[in-house]
Amino acid sequence: MKFGTKAIHAGIEADESTGAIMTPIYQTSTYVQEGIGVHKGFEYSRTKNPTRSALENNIAALENGAFGACFGSGLAAIDCILKMLNPGDEVISTNDLYGGTFRLFTTIFEKYNIKFHFVGMSGADAVRAKANDNTKLIWVETPTNPMMNIVDIKAMADVTKECGAMMCVDNTFATPYLQNPLDLGADLVMHSVTKYLGGHSDVVMGALITSDEAIAKEMYRIQNSSGAIPAPMDCFLVLRGIKTLHLRMQRHCENGEKLASFLREHPKVENVYWPGFEDHPGNDIAKEQMRGFGGMLSFSLVGNRKEDAFEVVKKVKVFALAESLGGVESLIGHPVTMTHASIPKEERERNGIVDSLIRLSVGVEDAEDLINDLKQALA
Ligand SMILES: *Cc1c(COP(=O)(O)O)cnc(C)c1O
Repeated sequence: MKFGTKAIHAGIEADESTGAIMTPIYQTSTYVQEGIGVHKGFEYSRTKNPTRSALENNIAALENGAFGACFGSGLAAIDCILKMLNPGDEVISTNDLYGGTFRLFTTIFEKYNIKFHFVGMSGADAVRAKANDNTKLIWVETPTNPMMNIVDIKAMADVTKECGAMMCVDNTFATPYLQNPLDLGADLVMHSVTKYLGGHSDVVMGALITSDEAIAKEMYRIQNSSGAIPAPMDCFLVLRGIKTLHLRMQRHCENGEKLASFLREHPKVENVYWPGFEDHPGNDIAKEQMRGFGGMLSFSLVGNRKEDAFEVVKKVKVFALAESLGGVESLIGHPVTMTHASIPKEERERNGIVDSLIRLSVGVEDAEDLINDLKQALA
């Protein structure tokens, strides 16, 4: 099955008792058993719920994986992976990662004696230099936020095999429509479903996908034991959102390209970071491992003044000033004061996150309106 068909049909069957074509919201905590141990596969909703199961099967199919599990947030999904490790284990992660992931690694799991190394992943050498017998997890995020750096997933999968570790890719920015890390050698894929998969800025949720049976067994054991599961209503909303994922992503990609090209020509814009540009350092790899470049981009202003960036985010009318991304509506943000405020200035600037940097999550509105909005805000 092709992507659009899978988005609408995979894992979803008409309701057996009524024929309802849409998966019902099974708003129930428990299930009546015919006798001791005689039931229909559902005993208690922390363990398994039919609305959640439909979503988990659907998301697994989109990532070409065999097993999916959903969680109460993206971070709860990452928390599950970290709980597969033991004290003394080591993790090598990209240094350019989502702030919440960094916080979970360093303020929660370091306490339990798991050691984290943060390295640049433009090549495999930095990972090799930190690898040792205790290395159990390689953590990849690509494209990254907000600089849109690209990590070569295949190259990282090769080093992961050399270390005998497992590799997870945070595929939130690319979505399964543009990139399938399992096909490129990853063992696990993680999503903040909150973003593009949900797609309508109305749910917080996370997901993990794998084809490895042993990893899946641990994943479900921890999902059930720790209990960070999403509610049936939220699973229903995401099932509904995913039915248009391919259509939304097509428009996100088109609009992303139009806005990136517009900004690049604008006299007040210094740099535009979007992996679709030939001169973006990750363009070659992006072309190999992605089927499009998405709707996330960032840009800096000539003169690099924070005040100018503040003016722009204040003046926009269609774009909304907000955290998060991946919804149908366009969002604008200022990483230095919003998402990346906790990172020291020097380290931030070394990674290109300068005072005037503005990040866009380009939505699916009409591109002309978005361009006109930025035009008047930059004027
Ligand atoms: C938002 C986000 C997360 C965290 O997900 P939540 O659903 O907010 O817990 C992780 N990784 C990336 C890339 C994100 O954008």
